[in-house]
Amino acid sequence: MRGLMMDYELTLLPIFDRAGRYFPDVELVSRWPDKSIQRSTYGEFHKRVQKLANALVRLGLKPGDRVATLGWNHSRHLEAYFAIPLAGGVLHTLNPRLSGQDLAYIMNHAEDRLLLVDDVLLPVYERFHKDVNLRAVVVWTHGHAAPDFAIDYEQMIEPEMNTFAFPNIEEGQAAGLCYTSGTTGKPKGVVYSHRALVLHSMVSALPDALGLSCGDAMLPVVPMFHVNAWGLPFTATMVGTKQVFPGPHLDAKSLLELFQKEKVTLTAGVPTVWLGILDELDRNPGVWDTSSIKAMIVGGAAAPRSMIEGFDKRHGLRVIHAWGMTETTPLGTVARLKPHLEKATEEERLRMRAAQGLPVPFVETRVVGENGAVAPDGKSMGELQVRGPWVAKSYFQNPAEADKFTMDGWFRTGDIVTVDGEGYVRITDRSKDLIKSGGEWISSVDLENALMGHPSVKEAAVVAVAHPRWGERPVAAVVLKDGSKATPHELTEYLTPLFARYWLPDSYVYMDAIPRNATGKFLKSALRDQLKDHRWEESPVPGR
Ligand code: ADP
Repeated sequence: MRGLMMDYELTLLPIFDRAGRYFPDVELVSRWPDKSIQRSTYGEFHKRVQKLANALVRLGLKPGDRVATLGWNHSRHLEAYFAIPLAGGVLHTLNPRLSGQDLAYIMNHAEDRLLLVDDVLLPVYERFHKDVNLRAVVVWTHGHAAPDFAIDYEQMIEPEMNTFAFPNIEEGQAAGLCYTSGTTGKPKGVVYSHRALVLHSMVSALPDALGLSCGDAMLPVVPMFHVNAWGLPFTATMVGTKQVFPGPHLDAKSLLELFQKEKVTLTAGVPTVWLGILDELDRNPGVWDTSSIKAMIVGGAAAPRSMIEGFDKRHGLRVIHAWGMTETTPLGTVARLKPHLEKATEEERLRMRAAQGLPVPFVETRVVGENGAVAPDGKSMGELQVRGPWVAKSYFQNPAEADKFTMDGWFRTGDIVTVDGEGYVRITDRSKDLIKSGGEWISSVDLENALMGHPSVKEAAVVAVAHPRWGERPVAAVVLKDGSKATPHELTEYLTPLFARYWLPDSYVYMDAIPRNATGKFLKSALRDQLKDHRWEESPVPGR
């Protein structure tokens, strides 16, 4: 027997429409490059998106055309988030921190036809413009005229009608396209359907997931070019949340200022952002009012436990750890504690909150061991595989990467994990970052998280370096806090009670900064390259 419910396509249109209809006065706040603040509302947004959709069609947008954006977080970018897919196009966000060569590769692979770009990012465009073939370039200007070769965004949408004849869209149609940041090889395209974005938004908004409501004010520190700012702009629009966009100003002081001024309740970003904010709060206690903040979501890389603890104990701020990938739209797991775990000791609670967390509804997980068998007990270490309605089933035009998707319908994340009896996933490492020493695995993530708990250490990354006797040994790259000191001997003493002896790094390399990829994560491949000629005999071997 069939259910007797309507066939209703899950597209972004009802999300967009609801915000304009029921939350017309809720604010969208943007900070521009000159630090000025602009206030708008969902009511204005509702009209401007339709103007933009009309303008895109006038520029020749055809169903399925890819439209690239190269911009920071602001309300015009939000307009593009909706106008492009609602006009039948595909929103392709570009990461301005990538090289010109990578950007050209990605745009040509995606066959982008139009580009919307921030005026302050035109120098990035200059780096690749000769290598791409675009129908038009539209510039989000702020206090400057658009260059001759381009169209000014405001002038383009101004004469357009503020109602748009939305085409019929079916839920399986592509809405967005995002390339992985390429820490593991050439960037790979992930194509999000309308349905995936809708279901992802619904689950993200749940209180046990990211938790968003119309009473919140959400500030995405995570850039709108990084997995759609983790889908937060879609989720927030769905529930009518006030959105606060920081523009290019992502330093700790600028963010704290905005949290305070706009009474932000929920914010999200990668660990390096929160490490900077924690440092600022520690240095200047009592200066910043963070009392409006209910949750700070951290993801994209492992959140050091010492950071979660520092925010909690010293500043009464709640960090929520989450895991995801470009291929999972990105939300996969969230480390909120089940009620009975809230009763555990403080130590245990912290341990659980520093794990990657419990899979959200509709994300199924399994762990597959080295022998290819699915781990039955939930305890053994292995590769995390996932499936669900917002998990990619293949990459965009990339048969070479087909082996990331198993024959029985799972996506291979490349993350090595254990899953505890409660179902909480804990990442040990990415498969390529694990260190194999004398036949035993060593987790680089565990070592670097522990090192970042040392009072003098600002950042640490641990990588495998080839070793004549052990195959590989861990070497730690360390950035010290300003004015702090820590010798290799002191660091080893600090780690000794925490790890088996053979885990301890054999050598420490002090750096001014650890190389990062375009999304702010440690670029371990570059670090491995830098350290590949490391001479063991020259360095002390404190581990043994
Ligand atoms: P890339 O794969 O190019 O780095 P993604 O942004 O898709 O780009 O990164 C996904 C990866 O980031 C995951 O596979 C995982 O290794 C890492 N990651 C994401 N969130 C976390 C987290 N909370 N803890 C540890 N690692 C994480």
